[in-house]
Amino acid sequence: MFPERLTEGYRSFVEGRFARERSRYAMLAERGQQPQIMVVGCVDSRVSPEVIFDAAPGEILVVRNVANIVPPYQPDKATQHGTSAALEFGVQALKVRHIVVLGHAQCGGIRFFAQESAPLSQGDFISQWMSQIAPAAAALGPHARYDAEAYQKRLEFASVELSLSNLMTFPWVKEKVDAGQLELHGAYFGVAAGRLLVRDPASGRFEPVGDAPV
Ligand SMILES: [Zn+2]
Repeated sequence: MFPERLTEGYRSFVEGRFARERSRYAMLAERGQQPQIMVVGCVDSRVSPEVIFDAAPGEILVVRNVANIVPPYQPDKATQHGTSAALEFGVQALKVRHIVVLGHAQCGGIRFFAQESAPLSQGDFISQWMSQIAPAAAALGPHARYDAEAYQKRLEFASVELSLSNLMTFPWVKEKVDAGQLELHGAYFGVAAGRLLVRDPASGRFEPVGDAPV
């Protein structure tokens, strides 16, 4: 059975938000989408970019995967590249002006990697996927230098950094960044307090933004 929660939620959407934004939806259907911003977020159910940024339909293009990872540019035909395909679409077809890598607190994917968790199935897709952040972990140094919580947090930030540098391995991303047509950003959402930190490109530090709750 289709979940009742979704039927109810849909009803509420149609009568509320859709009704209020009907003309916007009609315009978007007619003219197509032209989002200026793309967000790479995590699949985590607590960190929906549209909710965090209070986005209207058509405003942000979102790709979500386990632990908001941008893989390096690997134009091979041997495997599938879902995130790279979404980036290609956003950058080349929609010509977004900004890409935001949005990390978050208590990320299950990062924890899986940090704790070297056992495979969840024979396919062991998560380990394989999360092994991409190994260079970020290597840069942090030995695990034992931090307690588990501190290590996890550092790795969450380091992983955003790695994704930002991986973005620059895509030739059409680098080209547009160098030409000033595209900006890359790092951000981090602290789930419990609803706090958003944004990476300062000059210092590389993540600073609180706006009047977010402390
Ligand atoms: Zn996550």
